[in-house]
Amino acid sequence: MLVMKFGGTSVKNAEAVDRVSGIISARVAEQPIVVVSATGDTTDRLVEILDLLDDNKPGAMAIAESIEAKHLALIKEVVTDEAQQNITFEKVQPEIKRLKDMISAMERLGDVSMRSRDAVQALGERMSAPILAGSLASRGIDAVSVDPGTVIATDSTWGAAKPDFAQTQSQCTSVLVPLCKKGQVPVVGGFVGANPKGIITTLGRGGSDLTASVIARSVAATGLEFWKDVDGILTADPRIVSDAKPLSEITFEEASELTFLGSGVLHPASIQPAVEAGVPVTVRNSYKQDSPGTKILKSRAPNVDNTTAASIAYKKNQALINVYSTRMLGASGFLRKVFEVFDRLNISVDHIATSEVNITVTVDDGDVVPVLAKELEEVATVTVTHNVAIVSVVGEALRQTAGIGSKVFTALKDINVLFITHSGATTNLSVVLENERLNDAITSLHAHLFG
Ligand code: ASP
Ligand code: MG
Repeated sequence: MLVMKFGGTSVKNAEAVDRVSGIISARVAEQPIVVVSATGDTTDRLVEILDLLDDNKPGAMAIAESIEAKHLALIKEVVTDEAQQNITFEKVQPEIKRLKDMISAMERLGDVSMRSRDAVQALGERMSAPILAGSLASRGIDAVSVDPGTVIATDSTWGAAKPDFAQTQSQCTSVLVPLCKKGQVPVVGGFVGANPKGIITTLGRGGSDLTASVIARSVAATGLEFWKDVDGILTADPRIVSDAKPLSEITFEEASELTFLGSGVLHPASIQPAVEAGVPVTVRNSYKQDSPGTKILKSRAPNVDNTTAASIAYKKNQALINVYSTRMLGASGFLRKVFEVFDRLNISVDHIATSEVNITVTVDDGDVVPVLAKELEEVATVTVTHNVAIVSVVGEALRQTAGIGSKVFTALKDINVLFITHSGATTNLSVVLENERLNDAITSLHAHLFG
């Protein structure tokens, strides 16, 4: 069994649904289980409905009607077989009715509960799965949509429900596996589950990846493929480096680090359940079916490739904050005083370096930075540099290879580097420079490291 996951943009219109149906059709022999997100921006629109109701503002029903029109039109375009079209309408129309009924009820009550929010947000995936199944069935594939509430068991944390792995595994075994064994292709809406009472929950925005990962783990899938509209994971952002190359493989740790450092394609928490269980995970491009994509491995045996960096990540619009105090000389408790301020203002520190009398940190730039500086000034001398960017070279090889550091600094020799971090335990070497030099820095680093 193979789990194939398609995101919202992959099913945003008829052309996209057709492409995805073609990709799945070519893989039927591998017993695919398909996980799909809501079409396009449907979840955003559902959230908009909830926010309007919550603010007691008009317009919710009009959005529901536009969602209805879009989905009904999509069915007519992609579910070309008449009998299948009727089956699909019969599955999707009750979901739309439920949306409208819930809107009326919430308007009357003047209350939007967390539980109702989940029920409404889940509707996007409850419609996209039957539509994709109908499109596949119109091509002669024995596809069936499966209610995600019967597959993904969760706790009752509305809006961010946690999957119960053991219960989900037993449901996958009883619901999905028999379908695959019969030669059918189950299509499951992502992002949605049900709590022990059978009430609909959602896993948090972007949660379809987690659905796919938990199913792949539960059925011990031969593979888990995330189909996106990019060429897997690249050596750099292709908008900056035109000859950025797709990576054939990357470790889970490297992929996670890239996400935290600003350039991730997948959220580590979503793929972890599958990676941990040893399921081979691949990121693939739905516009380039023949390209093998990027494999995400649990670990990589040291080999020739392992002496190179994996990728370059970056974050723009950061602030560099320097805290200077001679009181730090030989004194204790100073760091605590400084970081208490960050804690109080709920500011997350990204990178940090210290010397005897300086603490330098990076944070996201924004309105809170002047507030932070003012409070820190009560304990030390503070300087803030705005409009800076962090560029990170990521790779497990950084821990083992002396040569990478020298290549990094050679590449940056004409750029004023304001700050550097690298600790032996991490898989990144990060530098801070002015926003304006970001493109030059990345282009030069890429040429030196991957050229
Ligand atoms: N449709 C949900 C969202 O947009 C879940 C997902 O796409 O993964 O957040
Ligand atoms: Mg989405």
